Amino acid sequence: MTRIVVVGAGQAGASLVAKLRSLGFAGTITLIGEEPVPPYQRPPLSKKYLLGEMEEERLYLRPAQFYVDNDIALRLETRVTAIDAARRIVTAGGEEIPYDQLVLATGGRARALPSSVAGHRDGIHLVRTLADVDRMAPEFTAGRRALVLGGGYIGLEAAAVAALRGLEVTLLSANGRILRRVASEATADYFRTLHQRHGVNIREGVGIAELLGTQRVTGAILTDGSRVEADFLVAGIGLDAATELALSAGLTLDNGIAVDDFGRTSDPAIWAAGDCASFPLAGVRIRLESVQNAIDQAERVAENMLGAAKPYVPVPWFWSDQYDVKLQIAGLSSGHDQVLVRGAGETAQSHWYWRRGQFIAVDAMNDARGYMVGKRLLEAGRNPDPAVIADPSADLKALLR
Ligand code: NAP
Repeated sequence: MTRIVVVGAGQAGASLVAKLRSLGFAGTITLIGEEPVPPYQRPPLSKKYLLGEMEEERLYLRPAQFYVDNDIALRLETRVTAIDAARRIVTAGGEEIPYDQLVLATGGRARALPSSVAGHRDGIHLVRTLADVDRMAPEFTAGRRALVLGGGYIGLEAAAVAALRGLEVTLLSANGRILRRVASEATADYFRTLHQRHGVNIREGVGIAELLGTQRVTGAILTDGSRVEADFLVAGIGLDAATELALSAGLTLDNGIAVDDFGRTSDPAIWAAGDCASFPLAGVRIRLESVQNAIDQAERVAENMLGAAKPYVPVPWFWSDQYDVKLQIAGLSSGHDQVLVRGAGETAQSHWYWRRGQFIAVDAMNDARGYMVGKRLLEAGRNPDPAVIADPSADLKALLR
C-alpha cells in the first residue's frame, strides 16, 4: 500500500491530506506537526483571536475527529530531524517512518530580532503560532504602550488591535515605507492615514538602535537618536522559510524549497507546498506567503501526487483586516508602471495596476465589487480599459461582459 508522509501540519499540510482522501487515495497518510494542537488557521491570530473575539476551537481547520474518521495518522508535538536516503523520515524521538511519497509543508518561522539587540529581555513577542499569541495577548490592556517593529501585515494588524484596545502604539517600519514588500505606495498611503487616524504613531525609515530595560523591555533608542518608552515589543519582521530538512536532504533550494510547475522537488519522491515552496510563475520563481497559496498549491500537489500532471498557475490573492477596513488584493502589483485610484479620499477605494500595458493587480479597500471584478479579469487574462476604471460613474461589472 502506498505510504504518504506529510511533514508540517499547518494550512498546507492539512489541506493536502484532506484533498488526498477526497480524491479517493486509499493508502496510508501520516501528517506530522510540531505544535501541540490540531491544524489551525493562522490569519485570525493577529486579528479576531488577538482581539479576544474568537475561541481557540474555532481556529481549528477541522475537529480532531476528522483525522480519525479519515484514517489520517496525525502526529502532533513531533519534530522531524532528517530525511534519509532510504526514504524514511527520522523524528527527534528517534523514530523512523518510511514513505513512498513525502511532502514538505514545513512553512516558515517568524524572524527573530538579533540576539545582540534582544538580549534576554522579556516582553518581546514574535507572532506566528497560537502559543505566541496566547503569550502576547495579556500585554494588550488599555493604557499600556506597545512598540511594534515591522510595517508588514503582522505589524499593522497588531498595531490595529492594540489601538482598538486603547493602547498607545508606536510602529517602526525600519527599512522604509510600510507594506513595502507586499503592496504599492498608494495602498501604503491609505493604511498610513488609517492608522494615524486611530492614533498610531508611524515612524518610517526608523529602526531600533538599542533596546532599553534589563529584565524586561522598557523602551528603545531609535536609529534617529530619539527614544520611545514601551511596556512591550511586537516584532513582525518577516518570515524565514523552513528549508533545513530539504537542505540536509540535498534538495535544490532557491528562495525556499524549489519545486517545478507540478510541485515536485528535485527528488521525484518529494513534493513541497505552502510558505516554504518556491515555484515558477510567468517566467520567474516566486514564493507566496498566503493562506490562499497554502490551500491551492497543496491541493494541486495532492492531485499531482495521484497522477494528474496539472501545473499550478495561481492568480494570487490576499486579505487583511485593520479597524473597519477589509483589504483584498488580487494579483501581484510589483513592477507596475501605471496605477489608477477609484474612490480617492473615500474609505471604499481601489487601486488598479498595469505593467507595460497589461493589467496585473487590484488592491481593494472596503470595495468587494472592485476586488471581485479585478480578480475575475485577472483570471480571464483580460485587460480592462483604464478609461473605464478611471471613470467613477462607470459600472465595473460591465467590464466582465
Ligand atoms: P512581512 O510582510 O515580510 O513584513 C516584515 C516587515 O518587517 C517589513 O516592514 C520589513 O521591511 C520589516 N523588516 C524586515 N526585516 C527587518 C529587520 N531585520 N528589522 C526591522 N524591520 C525589518 O512579514 P510579517 O508582517 O512579519 O508577516 C509574517 C508572515 O505572516 C508573512 O508571510 C505575512 O504575509 C504573513 N501574514 C499575512 C497576513 C495577511 O495576509 N493579512 C497577516 C499577518 C501575517 P521591508 O519590507 O521594508 O524590508
